[in-house]
Parts: sequence; C-alpha cells; structure tokens
Amino acid sequence: MIKRVVILGSGTSTGVPVIGCSCDVCQSNDPKNKRTRASILLETVDGKQFVIDTGPDFRAQMLGAGIRSIDALFYTHLHADHCHGFDDLRAFYFWDKSPIPTYLAKDFSVELPQRFYYAFSDSGYPGATPNLNLNIIPDDGVFDVGGVEVETFRVAHGNVMTSVFRFGSFAYATDFKTFSGSQIEQWRGKIKVMVASGVHFDAHPTHSTIPETIELFDKLEVERGVISHLSHKISYLRDGAGLPKKVSLAYDGMDIDLT
Ligand SMILES: [Zn+2]
Ligand SMILES: [Zn+2]
Ligand SMILES: [Zn+2]
Repeated sequence: MIKRVVILGSGTSTGVPVIGCSCDVCQSNDPKNKRTRASILLETVDGKQFVIDTGPDFRAQMLGAGIRSIDALFYTHLHADHCHGFDDLRAFYFWDKSPIPTYLAKDFSVELPQRFYYAFSDSGYPGATPNLNLNIIPDDGVFDVGGVEVETFRVAHGNVMTSVFRFGSFAYATDFKTFSGSQIEQWRGKIKVMVASGVHFDAHPTHSTIPETIELFDKLEVERGVISHLSHKISYLRDGAGLPKKVSLAYDGMDIDLT
C-alpha cells in the first residue's frame, strides 16, 4: 500500500519559469510558481520508495527529497521531459550495488536502450553508466511490485501511447489527451486520490486541459484530484482559487498523505 506521495516536479516540458520569458508567472516570487519537470515519489507503508519518470530536473529532485535508494522506477513514456535526467540514475548504483528494477511498456523497453545506448553496452566499470533492470509491463495488465498491486493501461498523447498507473487507491496519469469509456469504467470508483496532468486552461492538441482533467476526475469519481504538468499560463494562487473543492493544483514538494 502507498502511504505517501510527493510531487517532485509539477511543470510542463519547459519547466516554469520558461527560459527568457517575462510573463507574470515566470517573474513571480511565489515558490509554488516554480515548477520542475513532472515526476512523483511514492512511499509504501513498509518504507519502499518508487519514482515515476526521470526528467531533466531529476538530480535536483533526488537531492531535494533526500532519496538515496530507488526500490522501483516506472516510465510513463519517453518524451525528453520525462527521461532526460536518466544519467543521474548512476548514483544509486554507488550505494545499492544492484540494478534499479525499472518498469516500462514493451515498446519503451526497446526505445530506452536506443536513446541511451551507452548505458546498455559494456561501459568499462560498474557505475560508469546507469544500471537498470528492465521489466516489461503488460499494456493492459495488473502486476505486483514489492507487494503493491499496480494496474496500468495506455492512453493516447499525440502519436505516443503513455502508460498511466494505479497503485491501489492512488493513480498517476500524466501526458494524455483522453481516457476511453472502457478505461473510465475500469478505474471508476477505485481511486481516492489522483494526480493527473492538465497543463493550462487553453485547448491543447496532445494534452488534457485543466477543465478536461476535472471532468475526468468527475467521471472516475475520485475523492481528491491534483492537477500537475502545469505551464507558465497558470498562477498557483490566481488559478487555484477557482477550482472545485476536491481539486487542487500541484506544486513542487507537495506532500500527499494517503493514510
Ligand atoms: Zn510531459
Ligand atoms: Zn512565462
Ligand atoms: Zn509527453
């Protein structure tokens, strides 16, 4: 069972502030308007730590959250903002001396070694590159990780099929446009807390927008919804205030107690 979730990064692909941008949000001093690339930490009741995605801010996120060991790593998809912190996975081998159990869809298990080929060939000495143990997850299946039942299926995100995950009564879905009717039926009523991407209010071709994500929370009957992967068009205070009571905006460092 998952007892705690920490939002390691709540930002869209550019992060916030956006390089060179002079808008109000990018210039804001509110720490909740400073967003690193999307990632979360899950902590189980017996103290295991799971991480979802390793974006470009991964190193700072691990240092900030004081993470010394990863019991399981999951990839939603392999867009740059979700995997380009990959090389900093090296450090975990220094301490654990064992590969990180990594869970990803079959096509991503082919794409990841293509993208980071150097880590999947002989590097000369252990620890020179990330050391992962790739576990292929079923597209529409249920599997067990460290005693936690995980359920995953794929959702369209432009021309990529993202994996979304449910860990008991907690679900994480980032980078998707819509869930199908049967996927909504599959998860409806099973989720207490869900963190899902929303980006901003304006229409987006490959992402669910904030209003669309709120509609998804309603359809899934989640008790509490948290919207993440936010762009610089969203001010935490200004835009968070008008949301339905059970919905809030994510921010970096947000700590969600699931007990
Ligand atoms: Zn993304
Ligand atoms: Zn801006
Ligand atoms: Zn993406």
